[in-house]
Amino acid sequence: AQERPRLRWAGAAKRIAEAPRTADANKGLYGHALIVAGAWGKSGAAAMASLAALRTGAGLVTAAIPESILPMVAGVAPELMTIPLKQGAKGEIDRANLEPEAFEVLTKRRTVIAVGPGIGEEPSTEEFLLGLIEKTDVPLVIDADALNLLAKHPETMKKLSGSSGRRRTVVMTPHPGEMARLAGISTKEVQTNREPLAREFAQRHQITLVLKGWRTLIAHPGGEMAVNTTGNPGMAKGGSGDILTGIVAAMLAQHADRPAEAVEAAVYLHGLAADFAVREQDEHTLLATDTIGHLFRAFH
Ligand code: AMP
Ligand code: MG
Repeated sequence: AQERPRLRWAGAAKRIAEAPRTADANKGLYGHALIVAGAWGKSGAAAMASLAALRTGAGLVTAAIPESILPMVAGVAPELMTIPLKQGAKGEIDRANLEPEAFEVLTKRRTVIAVGPGIGEEPSTEEFLLGLIEKTDVPLVIDADALNLLAKHPETMKKLSGSSGRRRTVVMTPHPGEMARLAGISTKEVQTNREPLAREFAQRHQITLVLKGWRTLIAHPGGEMAVNTTGNPGMAKGGSGDILTGIVAAMLAQHADRPAEAVEAAVYLHGLAADFAVREQDEHTLLATDTIGHLFRAFH
């Protein structure tokens, strides 16, 4: 029988989050994360991802959001910068944001771009997403609706390296349902084959795959894999994944040279913060945003 490859423990990567900041630090050292998120009815997803990125320690965080929901997202924290995106008839991110001048303003000098929370699946947003992936060479975190849209575009899955054609860090953070769409199988098949599926997908597409749920797996492009043991069922609520996206983006912004550890640490810290938060709440009453408020405990 074939031996099952051993999994590393995601918590071991926590040491990169524990290292103190150098005394003469400045914000430029810790990266600029761009969060592309939101649509009508989903401004909260953009707000949660952005706030989580701020709390995780990125030097700067900018949220790019459909213009009409901008005030609500901007209100989540005065530290957050925002860019209004042109929007379509349903309050979704419009393809017009690919127009070169605006696109340049949106994407220049970013350390990492996270895209997906609450963007919906309108065709105009779909076009924008494909352009964002293909016309940039900045590290990407792809989540939520962006994964569902990408699942319809195998040709773009082959162009994840972006405009330079060189390899860049691409992290995908599907929950089992999103993974099922990406892989073209059922959610049940995903859940009964998590390890081999994650490893194979990450290697085939040369990405880092975060397959979420109880015992989240982190599969790297080279075939190595880690498993996370933090987190609790109180997280099984809307918003938890959006927060993880912000944490992953901020960890990559700060540790661009060590993307594998940055992602593993992000997953670990997210779950650990939720484990601290649930002690003061209850699995039933825990809100996803309570986790953000307990990140400081996870960093200790
Ligand atoms: P999403 O479905 O995108 O909101 O993501 C849910 C988040 O909560 C992921 O980070 C999951 O790993 C986490 N989560 C959900 N349920 C559990 C659970 N039972 N145990 C640990 N983590 C969980
Ligand atoms: Mg999600």
